[in-house]
Formats: sequence, structure tokens, C-alpha cells
Amino acid sequence: MKIPRVPLTLQLSAIRLLREKLELASNKLEKTFTEPTLNYRQRGTTAGSAYLAEWQIRLNPVLLIENGEAFIQEVIPHELAHLLVYRCFGRAGITPHGKEWQWMMQEVLEVTPQRTHKFSVESVKSQGFMYHCRCPQPHELSLRRHNKVQRGTSQYLCRKCKEPLSWLATPQQKS
Ligand SMILES: [Zn+2]
Ligand SMILES: [Zn+2]
Repeated sequence: MKIPRVPLTLQLSAIRLLREKLELASNKLEKTFTEPTLNYRQRGTTAGSAYLAEWQIRLNPVLLIENGEAFIQEVIPHELAHLLVYRCFGRAGITPHGKEWQWMMQEVLEVTPQRTHKFSVESVKSQGFMYHCRCPQPHELSLRRHNKVQRGTSQYLCRKCKEPLSWLATPQQKS
């Protein structure tokens, strides 16, 4: 799947909000934070994700283009809060949308904490075959690759955990 180009106005708007919220956090927490990098490589039905160690926010370009400003207002603070929680509290004993994240959203970034997004995902729904390994995120294989695996002519390994991918006929519900 090709990554659609995000219009410059939306990119600027996303950066503007990111800087605004980061400044708010710096003032309230009396701490300086480097600006996280933003990119548009999030795929699937996920709106965005925060890469803690990489200090990076990935946004879903399809959902961003479809939902515009509403997407930016919701997803940027949500993912930024994950990064800030990591920087302030570390990783041990922290649940992704737990107390610390909710506090960061409400008290620091001044937005209502919402765990999941409500954007329509019709256009980004998976068309392929969902394969699993040891990682929580499934991998999507095209029909061509799926057929190769089922015929036994190919095997694909997860790049992260190195496990062979196996097909689950009933896809797991995404949370
Ligand atoms: Zn989250
Ligand atoms: Zn894996």
C-alpha cells in the first residue's frame, strides 16, 4: 500500500499543536523536553502510536487526511502524553492508559483523556490475511504471500521476535 501524501497545511497544523502542547508541558512540569519527531508511517486502523525510546510519534496518514483538524486535536496530545509519561515516570509499572497517562492528559495537556479513537476506519480496514507471532501486533500478508505460505513454498519471519508468522483464521479484535 502506498503512503498518501499529507497536505502541508495539515502537517504544519500537527507540528503547531505538538509545539503548543509541549510548551504547556514544559511550563507545568518545569522541565524542558526535546521536540519529538513526527512522521506519517502509521498503518492499519490505528490512528497513531508513540515510540518511546525513539521519541517519535507516528500518525496514520489516511485517517489524518480523512478527519483533518479533529484528528490532530485528538491524536497529537494522546501520543505526546505517552512520551511525556515515559520521560517523567519511566516504564516500570506503568500501564499505557493508566493513572499517569490520564493525569498527563487532563492536568498537563488540558485535554479529555480518551483511550481509543472514534474515527471511521472503513477505508483502512485490512484486506489481507492476519498473521501472528509472539508480538502483540499482527502482521498483514497479501493474498499472494498468504498462498505461498499455505502451499509451503515460503515462510515469513517476524523481524522483531524472529518467530515464523502463522495464520489465525479468525482475526483478533483490535483494542
Ligand atoms: Zn494510547
Ligand atoms: Zn514478532
